[in-house]
Amino acid sequence: MKRITIAKGDGIGPEIMDATLSILKASGVALEYDEIEIGEKAYLSGNTTGIPAEAWDSIRKNKVLLKAPITTPQGGGYKSLNVTMRKTLGLYANVRPCKSLPPYVDTKHPELDLVVIRENEEDLYAGIEHQQTDEVVQCLKLISRPGCEKIVRYAFEYAKAYGHKKVTCFSKDNIMKQTDGLFHQVFDEIAAEYPEIEKEHWIIDIATAKLADTPEHFDVIVTLNLYGDIISDVAAQIAGSVGLAGSSNIGETVAMFEAIHGSAPDIAGKKIANPSGLLQGAILMLKHIGESEAAEKIQNAWLKTIEEGIHTGDIYEDGVSVKKVNTSEFAEAVVANLGQKPTKFKAASYPRDIKMNLPKAVRKPLRKKDLVGVDLFVHWSGTDANKIGALLEKLNLENVKLQMITNRGVKVWPNGFKETFCTDHWRCRWYADEGFTMTNKDINTLMQNAIDQNIDVIKTENLYNFDGQKAFSLGQGQ
Ligand code: NAD
Repeated sequence: MKRITIAKGDGIGPEIMDATLSILKASGVALEYDEIEIGEKAYLSGNTTGIPAEAWDSIRKNKVLLKAPITTPQGGGYKSLNVTMRKTLGLYANVRPCKSLPPYVDTKHPELDLVVIRENEEDLYAGIEHQQTDEVVQCLKLISRPGCEKIVRYAFEYAKAYGHKKVTCFSKDNIMKQTDGLFHQVFDEIAAEYPEIEKEHWIIDIATAKLADTPEHFDVIVTLNLYGDIISDVAAQIAGSVGLAGSSNIGETVAMFEAIHGSAPDIAGKKIANPSGLLQGAILMLKHIGESEAAEKIQNAWLKTIEEGIHTGDIYEDGVSVKKVNTSEFAEAVVANLGQKPTKFKAASYPRDIKMNLPKAVRKPLRKKDLVGVDLFVHWSGTDANKIGALLEKLNLENVKLQMITNRGVKVWPNGFKETFCTDHWRCRWYADEGFTMTNKDINTLMQNAIDQNIDVIKTENLYNFDGQKAFSLGQGQ
């Protein structure tokens, strides 16, 4: 008997959880449940994360959480429970299968059948933001090699385990050569280990357009956190299934499964909500814990119920649907279909004994790292780049000299264009002379010179070569 943790959540959460559990029970799968209380009540009792200590204990003990949607109270101070849970438990992979169900669920893309695998812990979602000058705020985009390796490996292992033919990487490495460039590079490295799987890379903008236009081109998509957040909603929406889709959040030890929709407070308590999204989350969970047979049985009963036209109000359509049902009636219809297969949809068939080879991240040997320069970010409210250039050249050291100044990434000194708009935020690059070995002491001296000249330095960023290769971006126009 496998024991899992469940959270009934807020709004329609308890209604759709009860319906889902009744289907799991009727399927005969051997599960026991520990219930935790997370979400609105915990938030309002003063817990800013929405997760009490005993809830953490249960999740960490059972390692599997089936979670109904929760309501994040309005107003400041409440942290997103999902983000806290993903990051604290290391749930690095967000997996969202999207499939059209024509003609029962309205879609312009009847052939859509894809899986979005989104990196879940890094990128701009580290939430490291600062106001640096009167005019400029910054958000740090952090991408790590182990982070890229884990998610890309997961995508290929998932494709292999579930018989997918192709994995496509989406990134914007034509612009972000370091961060997205690393993601793409790791994708190429790991893809080479899976010769049986087709692989391709698309730039995120045209990729999203292609996805919205011809989603059948894609099979498994792997991408960074922000792009994944956006394109997984695009994919679910054009499949017509935002209310019907589930997702999983997978970590090295713990995994969480849920519906992709929210707590729908507008229909809470009316007992009319569609439990399909959470049921799809539960099916992903069953596959994850090795209960593929039960997962397949429930999925086929669900597909049969949908094709019979037994629909909750959110997808009910005159002429297509046959019977409008409430939450528990829908669950009863699925239970009645357990053991049957759909005849109009392709029946689900899941591999048994799914094994994925997901080694733990291991730190690689240190690379040779040489300090070759430093960027000083300066708050200066003038507008003439030549003036700030002349001011800052006074900071030069014998062997470390001002090389260029950019404003929002565009080179404005030396030889800038007067057309370039300048804010009060200047990135000023000092570069070591060829053959000179720079140290952090040189940066200290530069900083002291800046203080002596009343220059307002708001941040510094060291410039390194790793194994002799430049590991920083050039200025635009440099
Ligand atoms: P929502 O998904 O709850 O609702 C959007 C619309 O879809 C509503 O009209 C709702 O009635 C309908 N809907 C959603 N699920 C349905 C279902 N199963 N059956 C029938 N109709 C359904 O989005 P929202 O209104 O933006 O958010 C409400 C609350 O949910 C907010 O507090 C938000 O923070 C929270 N939320 C939680 C999660 C989560 O826990 N994973 C995700 C998204 C939103």
